Formats: sequence, structure tokens, C-alpha cells
Amino acid sequence: MSLEKDCVQQKSESKISEHAIKDCIFCKIIRGEIPCSKIYEDKEFLAFLDIKPINKGHALIIPKIHCKNLLDFPKSEETDLVEFIKKVAAAVVKATNADGFNLGMNNGGAAGQIVQHAHFHIIPRFDNDGLISWPHKEYSEGEMQEMQKKIVGLL
Ligand code: AMP
Ligand code: ZN
Repeated sequence: MSLEKDCVQQKSESKISEHAIKDCIFCKIIRGEIPCSKIYEDKEFLAFLDIKPINKGHALIIPKIHCKNLLDFPKSEETDLVEFIKKVAAAVVKATNADGFNLGMNNGGAAGQIVQHAHFHIIPRFDNDGLISWPHKEYSEGEMQEMQKKIVGLL
């Protein structure tokens, strides 16, 4: 199912099914039913180490309320999410002596999302760590302007 359809469907449901929350691996971590290597938390968000790191120190940040992706991410009442991410990322970089980091989020299966509970990845990066970045595409004549118009029209 596409991300858009996913979100429309979710909005049309009065609440996320209890089934999804009960079975969700990250909700289980939040409830303490399965362990995690917690690194930081507040009332609304939790940060812990990814069990299969892209580089060692790879951390995940999740909202404590179950949601699927960025488009239905809860509006935090108290947490400044950017500050939360910066705090965790700075500690990861310092602890790993990284040269940089990637902040990433996979939204939808096509984008590589496997766990259906929204999460941000903080991946420490090292000069020449061998990770290859995404290849780039070229727009044909006028295609970029067309795309710009289409997106602007939806905002
Ligand atoms: P994504 O492909 O964006 O859905 O990424 C899900 C991430 O969650 C992967 O990098 C997994 O290694 C990680 N993961 C899955 N289960 C656990 C777990 N129990 N504890 C920590 N990380 C996990
Ligand atoms: Zn969940």
C-alpha cells in the first residue's frame, strides 16, 4: 500500500487498531516487554541503539505513542523534537568519534521501512567508511518546473 493511501486509511480510522499496538515491536520496547539499549528518553520520545547498526552507535528515536510514519507523527506537547534529535546525535558523534552523521527516516515499504512504528535513524559516519550514498537522476527539459508546480499546488 502506498504511503499516501496508508495515511488516508489511518486518518479514516477512529484510532489505530489495538492489535497493531499490541504486536508492534517498538511499542513492546516502550512498555518494557522486550529489552533495548536505552540511551535517552523524556515523556514523549525514546532513544535507543539499533540492534543491527549500519555503523556502531547507530541510534533510533521513536515517539512513545504508536504511529506509522512522519505524516501521522504526533504533535509533541512538550518535547522540542529537533532539540531531542540534536542532543542524541551530539552524544552519538562524541561517543563514536564520528566525522559526521546521517539523520534518516524510512516512510513506507518502498522507502525501506520495515518496522511500522515511526522512527528516526541517527547513523554515525566516518571518512571513507565505505557506505555508498544514493545515485542521482537527471530531469528532462521542463520536468523539474512541472514537478515544482505540482507540489506547490498541493501546499
Ligand atoms: P526501518 O527499515 O527504517 O524500519 O528500520 C528498522 C530498524 O529497527 C532496523 O535498523 C532494525 O535493525 C531496528 N530494530 C528492529 N528491532 C529492533 C530491536 N528490538 N531493538 C533495536 N533495534 C531494532
Ligand atoms: Zn508501535
